[in-house]
Amino acid sequence: MTEKSALIRCGYVAIVGRPNVGKSTLLNHMLGQKISITSRKPQTTRNNVLGIKTEGDTQIIFVDTPGLHLGQEKAINRYMNRSASTAMKDVDLIIFVVDRLIWTEEDEAVARQLDHVNSPIILAVNKVDQIDDKETLLPHLQQLSEKLSALEIIPLSALRNINLDRLEKIIVDQLPEAVHLFPEDQITDKSSRFMAAEIVREKITRQLGDELPYEMAVEIEEFKYEGQLLNISALILVEKSGQKKILIGDKGERIKLIGTQARIDMEKLFESKIMLKLWVKIKSGWSDDERALRSLGYGD
Ligand code: GDP
Ligand code: MG
Repeated sequence: MTEKSALIRCGYVAIVGRPNVGKSTLLNHMLGQKISITSRKPQTTRNNVLGIKTEGDTQIIFVDTPGLHLGQEKAINRYMNRSASTAMKDVDLIIFVVDRLIWTEEDEAVARQLDHVNSPIILAVNKVDQIDDKETLLPHLQQLSEKLSALEIIPLSALRNINLDRLEKIIVDQLPEAVHLFPEDQITDKSSRFMAAEIVREKITRQLGDELPYEMAVEIEEFKYEGQLLNISALILVEKSGQKKILIGDKGERIKLIGTQARIDMEKLFESKIMLKLWVKIKSGWSDDERALRSLGYGD
């Protein structure tokens, strides 16, 4: 064994970038387990989520962030930006994720924020599986290297597991020598109730992303084992009666489908048979109300 691999290493790695570039997908695939919800719709992730990967002497603590974006009008958006900026400070390494060859105003804003941090930055050029003309990649990587000072620029695909082993190797090399902060079987800092609520939110977002823009939250009202069965009851809060109708769907078909999909994911995650009940309630103005946000778990 070399001296280097005998070191006990542990450190925080923040995954940052604008919404929808694939940050949560990258976290899930690095962990080999789904802990952060993903969808085609921007702003699926609302809180910083820790994903912990322990292998032998090395513990990587990933911080998945909501994604910095320019809209600041609503309290929920301000909260999400705050979470992402906090995560950039005090980490050992930052992975800045971008979507293929695309560079937007929001990417630029993230890059300028990164000018003020001291941690080394790895630029992950994600979704390369979707680049048809591979010739365009190399000159673009060259251009990217001029936009910020990154330790490395890695083209990869989070979804198709392309180059993730290389990314992991670079991460491990950057981790400081330190004792592990979490037990080796712990994969996230979030509670089971939180994970259950997030799964329901993911299914709704995937089904109805365009019809329910942001104005939806999920609260777990019951989370209780009864023998071998886990009873979960979730309350879905929407802002308007029209949204409630859409969510329930014709003869309740929509909500039934959401429930079935959520239950399947929960049974995998909690390794148990699950009885899931979903309720929909109108609570107007929650996404712009700081106090309501805190009661839903979006507190600092
Ligand atoms: P986030 O907002 O940055 O956390 O983005 P998500 O992880 O939620 O992903 C946004 C969308 O991009 C989802 O539909 C993912 O399936 C998709 N996606 C993520 N990584 C890849 C990739 O490597 N290739 C392709 N084709 N799609 C990806
Ligand atoms: Mg996300």
